[in-house]
Amino acid sequence: MLSPAAICVAPNQLLEIDDVTVEGPQAGEVLVEIVASGLCHTDLTALEGINASSVYPLIPGHEGAGRVVEVGAGVATLARGDHVIPLYGPECGECSMCRSKRTNLCWTIKPTRDHGVMPDGSSRFRRGQEPVHHFMGTSTLSRYTVVPEIALAKIRKDAPLDKVCLFGCGVTTGVGAALTHIRPGDNVAVFGLGGIGVNIIQGARIAGAARIIGIDISRSKTELARSYGMTDFLVPGEDVPDPVIAIRDLTGGGVDVAFECTGVLKVMRQSLDCCVPAWGKSVLLGVEPAGSELSFPPVQVRYGKSILGSYFGGVKGRSELPALIDRFMAGEIDVDRQITHRLTLAQVNEGFELMRSGRSVRSVVMFE
Ligand code: NAD
Ligand code: ZN
Ligand code: ZN
Repeated sequence: MLSPAAICVAPNQLLEIDDVTVEGPQAGEVLVEIVASGLCHTDLTALEGINASSVYPLIPGHEGAGRVVEVGAGVATLARGDHVIPLYGPECGECSMCRSKRTNLCWTIKPTRDHGVMPDGSSRFRRGQEPVHHFMGTSTLSRYTVVPEIALAKIRKDAPLDKVCLFGCGVTTGVGAALTHIRPGDNVAVFGLGGIGVNIIQGARIAGAARIIGIDISRSKTELARSYGMTDFLVPGEDVPDPVIAIRDLTGGGVDVAFECTGVLKVMRQSLDCCVPAWGKSVLLGVEPAGSELSFPPVQVRYGKSILGSYFGGVKGRSELPALIDRFMAGEIDVDRQITHRLTLAQVNEGFELMRSGRSVRSVVMFE
């Protein structure tokens, strides 16, 4: 079938909007009709050519929600009409990672996913005769996309798809990371108040954090972040010369947990430096430019600080994501206030421009 899609032909070019041919689902795959798709900074890393897992031309998008149109042979857990969220982190339940129960990483289809193809090594998208690659195994900026069954979370049908699409990345990543790492009474720092950072802030409030310090080079998200629970806000270079010293001063020595949500190496280092010695945890979420390395004085870790990372908030997509949606439906997690822009597919380049300039938190592309 033909499907309108946003295509990144090569890095640093505007996305082209065109119809692509989408092949039907093969064994173990599902054809999904996307209703809405949020734009995340990780898509931007692919558009800028600094994402290690991008093969061009590709269709970006990994924060979508939609309905099952058709299932391939052997698909047993999903049927036509089911509401789903595509997962860039699948959950097969059978690989060594899934069986360990110690991680939400699943290895089964990672090698093909990172090469922009389905598990059988081919793409389901074509533009004319030319294959177009999948991105993150999801490609939700196509009206129709094909996703492996193990990379789809089935969700309740009364959840509004034009809002819960954000659980495909930002909300789950941020709230999940906060709930995993924060204890009641902790002081917390959050570097970067985009879609990930603001959700860490609301997760920190839910987890019972005491002080929640936001740091961003832009003031545009201050009001939203405060409404989510941020208690202090710092603009490095304007309010304070050095955010690390300011955070130590505010907390009498450093925060219990610092989250880095920018992808900037200098900020990753700041998130370690601003933690309290002996037990402070620096949790890195930002996606660094491919191939870059981080340096730090080992003594900080020897004395007890730790550097951790978080992928999709540590949430197992198929088995744990539906419970987070229940918490949204119960009013505990907010989505509405962080959707700053709604766009048509034709406006997708404007959406990424809003992200680059720091004016949006989340833009959502609407297919209906
Ligand atoms: P975003 O572009 O919406 O927000 C980033 C924010 O960081 C912006 O508000 C920007 O002003 C701020 N910022 C930039 N430089 C800064 C600096 N030097 N100091 C302080 N703030 C600074 O991005 P997002 O969608 O929230 O994603 C944030 C990062 O997380 C990206 O690197 C993205 O690729 C990554 N990410 C990781 C995961 C994961 O599972 N670990 C999931 C989604 C996104
Ligand atoms: Zn994302
Ligand atoms: Zn697995």
